Amino acid sequence: MLAARKRAETANITVEALRESVRALIGSGGNIAVLTGRDGKVIIDSGYATSRARITDALAKMDPGPIKHLVNTHWHFDHTDGNEWMHSDGATIFAHENTRKHLSTTTRVEGWDFAFPPSPAGAISAEVVDKEKRLYLNSTTIALSYYGPSHTDGDISAHFVEADVLHTGDTWWNGLYPFIDYSTGGHIKGMIKAAEANLARVTDKTIVIPGHGKIAGKPELAEYRDMLVTIHDRVAALKKEGKSLEEAIAAKPTAAYDSKWANSFITGDVFTKLVYAGA
Ligand SMILES: [Zn+2]
Repeated sequence: MLAARKRAETANITVEALRESVRALIGSGGNIAVLTGRDGKVIIDSGYATSRARITDALAKMDPGPIKHLVNTHWHFDHTDGNEWMHSDGATIFAHENTRKHLSTTTRVEGWDFAFPPSPAGAISAEVVDKEKRLYLNSTTIALSYYGPSHTDGDISAHFVEADVLHTGDTWWNGLYPFIDYSTGGHIKGMIKAAEANLARVTDKTIVIPGHGKIAGKPELAEYRDMLVTIHDRVAALKKEGKSLEEAIAAKPTAAYDSKWANSFITGDVFTKLVYAGA
């Protein structure tokens, strides 16, 4: 975890112009979305704190407006580590109640074998999103909505309605097997439900920002949903036959997908283990 933070210090931050005043910042932990305008910047996820200088540079090149609002898609540190500095620069932080809860206390993630200490007070969201919340800023509607337990128990999406750009947080990893954080309420069945919800709300025109991986749209989302469903069904069948976790991993249920999806710390075997836990 600390190594990832250290790497972010020198990581390149690239800016991708999406549509209207919405851009993405890529390179510091989870993908970041930025909306600019006279009401100040609205940011979705804050990346690693160590990227502060590079993110500040990238933001200053867009326009001089301060960061006024920050939304956390969920509590994981690669999406919230920058909360404290963004808050000290003037951002009010929005997140789901469960995100607020996990940031407020020591939270252990079994899958990472790491316990995160409570975040500093300034990093913890002041505004809580329950099921749905709409912000009206910079002549734009920002619709926040809760997925229910999926990647964690606090995942929310952010949809810039007029520009039709959707940030899915970590309910979508484009071209990567996703991590599922069972320690804080994540579940494979919830991940599938969230993928279905994402597909149901986008059109062919929607630009979709995944938590990790390349920005894309509906066809890639559909492919991801199909991968989740197929692997879930295979692993569930193995489990039903009475196969142990080790036997299920040995059966290589992800084999046909690994060349496309096993591109991060989540290998086919690790993903099988994550799916088995909830199949
Ligand atoms: Zn995450």
